[in-house]
Amino acid sequence: MARETSSGPNPQETMPVPAFESLMRQLPAEALLIGDAIEPRFRETLSEVPAARPAFVMRPRNTREVSICLSTCDALHQPVAVQGGRTGFHGGERACPGEAILSLERMTDLAAVDVAGGSIEAQAGVPLQRVQEAAVDAGMYFGVDIGSRGSATIGGNVASNAGGIRVLRYGMFRAQVLGVEAVLADGTVLTSLKGLAKDNSGLDLNQLFIGSEGTLGVVTRACLKLHPRPAAETAAFCAVPSLAAAVKLLSRLRVALGPLLSAFELIFADAFEGALALRDTQRPVAAAPFYVLAELHALHAEHDIDVFAAALASAHEDGIVSDVTLAQSPREFAALWALRDACSEHLSTLDRLVACDISVQPARMETFVAEAGDSIRALDPTARFPVFGHLGDGNLHYIIQTDRPADVVDGVYRCVQRLGGSIAAEHGIGIDKKPYLHFSRSDAEIATMRRLKRAFDPNNILNPGRIFDAVAGGSAQGAVA
Ligand SMILES: Cc1cc2nc3c(=O)[nH]c(=O)nc-3n(C[C@H](O)[C@H](O)[C@H](O)COP(=O)(O)OP(=O)(O)OC[C@H]3O[C@@H](n4cnc5c(N)ncnc54)[C@H](O)[C@@H]3O)c2cc1C
Repeated sequence: MARETSSGPNPQETMPVPAFESLMRQLPAEALLIGDAIEPRFRETLSEVPAARPAFVMRPRNTREVSICLSTCDALHQPVAVQGGRTGFHGGERACPGEAILSLERMTDLAAVDVAGGSIEAQAGVPLQRVQEAAVDAGMYFGVDIGSRGSATIGGNVASNAGGIRVLRYGMFRAQVLGVEAVLADGTVLTSLKGLAKDNSGLDLNQLFIGSEGTLGVVTRACLKLHPRPAAETAAFCAVPSLAAAVKLLSRLRVALGPLLSAFELIFADAFEGALALRDTQRPVAAAPFYVLAELHALHAEHDIDVFAAALASAHEDGIVSDVTLAQSPREFAALWALRDACSEHLSTLDRLVACDISVQPARMETFVAEAGDSIRALDPTARFPVFGHLGDGNLHYIIQTDRPADVVDGVYRCVQRLGGSIAAEHGIGIDKKPYLHFSRSDAEIATMRRLKRAFDPNNILNPGRIFDAVAGGSAQGAVA
């Protein structure tokens, strides 16, 4: 968690804050916090950079109150940082100096599952896990799962277009959204919650808010798609001799299983050994340079598991896999996933880490790992690679332990750029990765983002300076010229 900037007196406590005073006349007392009433958690984010002391905090209970908050802040040019569960990695939710916080934490209504429509409607502050549990209780399934499921919110998931472990089967958060309600910076409410699979009546404005990291509007509600619950699930842990072999295995399983292949995770030896030590458990397969965790979401339990087992056996015979374990029970299934989860937990025991969340086409992954690895070892021969990620989506959490962080990041992103990849596969840009956006996006694309921002938020009050600056090379805050 980030440190606070200072523990001294807040100059704003002694100065009038016009937007706060105006809101006091419009909202119930429990919706507003200022000064010492602001609990430390509003400044606790996962970013390394300390949060500023917020000018004040808004905690609306419904869409109407969000609209009041934003129209008031817009009229008085009060910049606002939007917060969901504060589990983002790159500081989009972190308050910058002078900003007020708009927290969606009191907006936690969750409607009943619509089984016939295969959907559920949630307010922005509902934690992801509640949606997953409601779906299972209704005999259905929600397609996105991420490690922060207990704290990350539906509004934050929509705003960051969260990915996670089953994108291969169900798509990213964007693919789960049937409709969104969002409030623009001037308080205008856009409601599109009809839950229609088909609606070509004009521009699809919903899509603009998904992955916009709170720069274009505040998501207040979402109508989410649910999937049929898998008849059975199982997973195999594979030792693979090379990255090329891992990609071959991916192709084989895709052909054999089609959409039933629900996850295909790659783990480098450094990350695997760390996870194993952390869990203090037996290795599920013999040692290898790389490991794969492949998961099946079966529709016809016995038949699909037989097809999975046969594909793995043939990969073993052909030397694509050097050793393999197929989970035979829910307990073994959970144990294999626990090892994968331990890869992220292991990172908290390490120092000097640089974390790059990259994607390239799976067929280019071998080239990426070879070229990026060579460039890093040339800079820092002692660098280590506790890397893991979602190879099925061409996405690696490319984590390096090094004494040369700045040079290493630059080298990795240049390599991603050469291979036509992305420097932010699923964790977004926020504030902290803004200097690197140009490695993934052209000048024309960034200029178009600015034009959209200007149209939606002409006073630049909403999450200013996130993803890109409103003016090229300009400051994070202030009106758009
Ligand atoms: C252990 C762990 C595992 C994770 N695993 C994954 C993973 O596998 N895949 C993945 O994609 N991410 C992952 N994340 C990152 C993070 O959980 C996601 O980005 C998540 O979607 C953020 O949700 P949040 O509610 O915490 O949003 P916050 O962190 O509060 O905010 C994230 C961004 O969205 C904006 N925002 C928040 N709410 C709204 C709203 N209602 N309207 C408009 N803008 C809003 C914020 O201003 C900020 O820019 C992980 C994080 C942790 C800690």
